[in-house]
Amino acid sequence: MPELPDVEGFRRVLADNAVRKRIAAVEVPDRDLLRNASPQALGRALTGKRFREPVRHGKWLIAPAGEAHVLMHFGMTGSLEWEPRGPRHAHDRVAFLYRHAELRFRDMRKFGGIWLANDEEECHAITGPLGPDAVTLGREQLHELLGSRRGAIKAALMDQRLVAGLGNLLVDEILWRARLDPHAPAARLSSRRRDAIYDAMRETLRASIRTRRVPRASGWLTEVRDRRGARCPRCGTRLRSATVAGRSTRWCPRCQRTAR
Ligand SMILES: [Zn+2]
Repeated sequence: MPELPDVEGFRRVLADNAVRKRIAAVEVPDRDLLRNASPQALGRALTGKRFREPVRHGKWLIAPAGEAHVLMHFGMTGSLEWEPRGPRHAHDRVAFLYRHAELRFRDMRKFGGIWLANDEEECHAITGPLGPDAVTLGREQLHELLGSRRGAIKAALMDQRLVAGLGNLLVDEILWRARLDPHAPAARLSSRRRDAIYDAMRETLRASIRTRRVPRASGWLTEVRDRRGARCPRCGTRLRSATVAGRSTRWCPRCQRTAR
């Protein structure tokens, strides 16, 4: 599932290839991905226009072009590809055509989407309320946000209205690095624990953005988390799994005993 680092990668695909080039046409092989506009309306808004610098906020990608903003969300299997004109992939749902190449929104399972907005206000209405982006979030800001939050730390970090951009894999990785039980109550964490979360978040995001995905790297929880009978890469204890905040969660009962 695309997480913040993947979407940051898609932002770069758009920024490095498609920005400031004239869009010759828009083709929509599958209109299911268009959430609030017809293929004709999307074509009218963008043909002859140029994307300006795109912005990522959490897992949203927002690209202004002409008078409009194009919003993209990548759902479970979405991606953005820059490829030469020619035969398309079976899962290319929308294609922005340039002189020699195409920017293609590919999505096998179609949980992603493309929206058209006329101004910033409409953008906010489409994304719903979003907290500050996880990449630009400051240490003090995280302290404050968690201090006023009820419920488990895992649910808090997953809530896009509190912090935008953290998904299931990232949050489990962050809590494992910070040695914190995912059920720990967010508001009661000591200042030292909140610092540990912040540091783990920075580290995890930096390494993930570099590889444009959450890596299944050696020494990471992600390396082992999906294996049956997986053991903690740090201490070798058998990992526990349960549904926390509605998502399948893995943690080490030995390293992550700390509840506050
Ligand atoms: Zn452990």
